[in-house]
Amino acid sequence: MAKAKKYVYFFGAGKADGRADMKELLGGKGANLAEMVNLKMPVPPGFTITTEVCTYYYAHGRKFPKELEGQVRAAVARVEKIMGKKFGDPADPLLLSCRSGARASMPGMMETVLNIGLTGATIPGMIALTGNPRFVWDAYRRLIMMYSDVVMEKAAGVEPAEDMGIRRQLERLMDQAKRQAGAKADTDLSAEDLQALCGRFRDKVREVLGKPFPDDPREQLWGAVGAVFQSWNGKRAVSYRRIEGIPDWWGTAVNVQAMVFGNMGDDSATGVAFTRNPATGENAFFGEWLTNAQGEDVVAGIRTPNPLNVATKSEHTQHLASLEEAMPAVYKPLVAIRNKLDSHYRDMQDIEFTIERGVLWMLQTRTGKRTGTAALRMAVEMMRERLISKETAVARVTPAQLDELLHRILDPKAEKGATVLAKGLPAGPGGAAGRLVFTAADAVAWTERGEPVVLCREETNPEDVEGMRAAAAILTARGGMTSHAALVARGWGKCCVVGAGALHVDAQARTVAAGGRTLREGDWVSLNGSRGVVYLDRLPTVDPDPENPLLVEFLAACDKVRRLGVRANADSPKDAAVARTFGAEGIGLLRTEHMFYGEGSDQPLFLLRKMILSKTPAERRAACAELFPHVKADIKGTLAAMDGLPVTIRLLDPPLHEFVPQSEEKQRELAQSLGIGLGDVRKRAEALHESNPMMGHRGVRLGVTYPEVSEMQIRAVLEAAAELRAEGKKALPEIMIPVTCTVEELKDQQALIGKVKAEVMQKFNLRKLDFLVGTMIEIPRAALTAGRMAEAAEFFSFGTNDLTQMCFGFSRDDIGAFMPDYLARKVLPADPFQSLDQEGVGELIKVGIERGRATRPKLKVGICGEHGGDPASIHFCHLAGMDYVSCSPFRVPIARLSAAQIAVKDAPRKKAGKGRA
Ligand code: PEP
Ligand code: MG
Repeated sequence: MAKAKKYVYFFGAGKADGRADMKELLGGKGANLAEMVNLKMPVPPGFTITTEVCTYYYAHGRKFPKELEGQVRAAVARVEKIMGKKFGDPADPLLLSCRSGARASMPGMMETVLNIGLTGATIPGMIALTGNPRFVWDAYRRLIMMYSDVVMEKAAGVEPAEDMGIRRQLERLMDQAKRQAGAKADTDLSAEDLQALCGRFRDKVREVLGKPFPDDPREQLWGAVGAVFQSWNGKRAVSYRRIEGIPDWWGTAVNVQAMVFGNMGDDSATGVAFTRNPATGENAFFGEWLTNAQGEDVVAGIRTPNPLNVATKSEHTQHLASLEEAMPAVYKPLVAIRNKLDSHYRDMQDIEFTIERGVLWMLQTRTGKRTGTAALRMAVEMMRERLISKETAVARVTPAQLDELLHRILDPKAEKGATVLAKGLPAGPGGAAGRLVFTAADAVAWTERGEPVVLCREETNPEDVEGMRAAAAILTARGGMTSHAALVARGWGKCCVVGAGALHVDAQARTVAAGGRTLREGDWVSLNGSRGVVYLDRLPTVDPDPENPLLVEFLAACDKVRRLGVRANADSPKDAAVARTFGAEGIGLLRTEHMFYGEGSDQPLFLLRKMILSKTPAERRAACAELFPHVKADIKGTLAAMDGLPVTIRLLDPPLHEFVPQSEEKQRELAQSLGIGLGDVRKRAEALHESNPMMGHRGVRLGVTYPEVSEMQIRAVLEAAAELRAEGKKALPEIMIPVTCTVEELKDQQALIGKVKAEVMQKFNLRKLDFLVGTMIEIPRAALTAGRMAEAAEFFSFGTNDLTQMCFGFSRDDIGAFMPDYLARKVLPADPFQSLDQEGVGELIKVGIERGRATRPKLKVGICGEHGGDPASIHFCHLAGMDYVSCSPFRVPIARLSAAQIAVKDAPRKKAGKGRA
């Protein structure tokens, strides 16, 4: 007979069926519990019901496989044996916990039930055993709260009215009991208070849910297991999965474990810690703990927790006792475990532990979420410690995390003079300003209207995730660094301040009060999430320092790993200098027409207009001659700034009509300074009018009809290069011809280039003048005829803005009217102007590269559309065999990282000899 399928994996007493690399089957929590047991760490014994059971459950009308019951029974028996207690035994009962655990961590998104096995029969036994009736009744009231909420309400599909969920109703009973007893904290309630409260809880459950609270331990256990599987498809979990891109079919595992108690008195405690600091990345054990509490108390942020050790006390936690001071005998082995986990996993771990009557138990370890600052520091330091290779280090920082470091903070100068509204804990990095909103739904709605918001809550819970995601920043009055808000914000790299205790949030009235001030919905506040400060008003923000030494070291590692070159799109000597500081290896696109906009452009613009309005070639030539020194100076400045690096200079590609003034007043001014009549200007403006300028007289078409314009630019480029050479600089210009669709256009322009080259060489008495001539590939025909184009072009640069426009037939300036609907209705997976459409535009690129290289094997290929700064598009460019990507100067570090990450990912394929795709 075939062996029954294994659905249950046991762990405990130094032996485990599973391992850390079995996350697909056991979920992250289950696999890591098994691993800790294998590492001989103290873990309460238990077992994991696999994710396959979850998949089975949903595929079979919410039924379990028939083998499951027997396997669970056997596993419970093994736990009983290790613990020396029996589940449901009135004299010495074993209590169990039941927790979810998907492959990827989904903090707080799914359900947990603790203290399973407490019943009318076992409660007296527990009281006799512990001699602590207060503890037992407290454990029972927690069981009723969790179980009725998770199993009897949520999993049963009951949809209570707003604020009428069973948990809220029970919480209100508890608040009432506290008021009656004059108790401030939950811990001030006596055993008798709690016992009476449990009676009221049970009555309430029966009244609201129409069923008695189950008094049979096995019924409780199976109810909890089913509810955890059900919670995989709960509203919160589904929306979290959507945001994080976690597939629905993964399913969750369920972990059932012997209970250990952190709330058995003052020699008991519970805590959450990180093997390194998750906010700064410092290699220091960092965490929070609470005496006489259960894990949920720390995470829910109901009590402000104490710091784990002396070294990591902050301004706000200075006065609180650390675990290191209060329980040194437990702290020491905990440090040993921390060290072992950090070096075993070679990554920062987020751990949960419980101390039951002075005995330490590990409840969880997982890779910890971190800020961008921390991710960078840990990657670099672990690489230095030789814990990880540079390839692993490169893979450890996401483009979004790097972006955090490259992005805004509050302007420190403005911050100095600003009014502090409140202080809290620095839970998410950077700075942000926004208008106050008090509900997750409002955060979503306001953000959709284009208003940046700060979502302000007493504390957040998993139901708020969509609003948290939408908000520019998150602010809570309660909770610690491991509270839900902090965890989620850190994972997303979002600016967040938690535990700003001075705030009185009234979500109903939509106000928040602090220090005698009351702010209303819509009022501006600014947050410094790296220091935990909330300011009044909207403060300006500034961009960060690209010379951060850790960043420099990290990016140097990226540069060693990547194959793809990274250039910048820069249009002026100033932009070129910025691009160089960010590590650009050249300029992939200099749009020459940009010298006619902005600072210092009055005179060149005037001359350009003169050129455009010229009626005869002679007039145009004269205007070009006047324009020439400006163009040359501009190009020379950029070539000088990029000394030794290539600069791709695109010949003029202006929409001509944009350069002719439209208003009568401006037209009159121009007519006057040109010494011509207003009528002439008007006529010319009308003649230049095009119905579809994007497909009109632009790019190379201009150069073909007005060769003197191309000639002037080519001369400017080549003379600038010759002059720089004479000055001892290394100018590497690449002349790029835009908007081509046939090789004949290239050949036409090349004839001009040849002529000007000879003239410049003669003028400067040169024997050699090195530069490249290439083309943009922006029109599908150019991509399809790339084999011909490469006869004339030494390089291709894919202009994917226009290529996307022309491949889709979507006007790049007019997508606003339909793109949101296309995305909302999933007609398109993403905006193709942001992330390259690999299926269509990508195919044109692949064909273009293949055919181009068939003609000219050494053809240099790059991309200079906006996609050159988008990580997914950069991955595509690597796989397509491009030589470089070119993007805005501020995206250059992201491009260096993305290029390195795809090189690491692609290494096995490369090794297998597949080479370029
Ligand atoms: C492009 O079309 O991708 C491009 C880079 O050129 P522009 O955006 O100037 O049209
Ligand atoms: Mg273009």
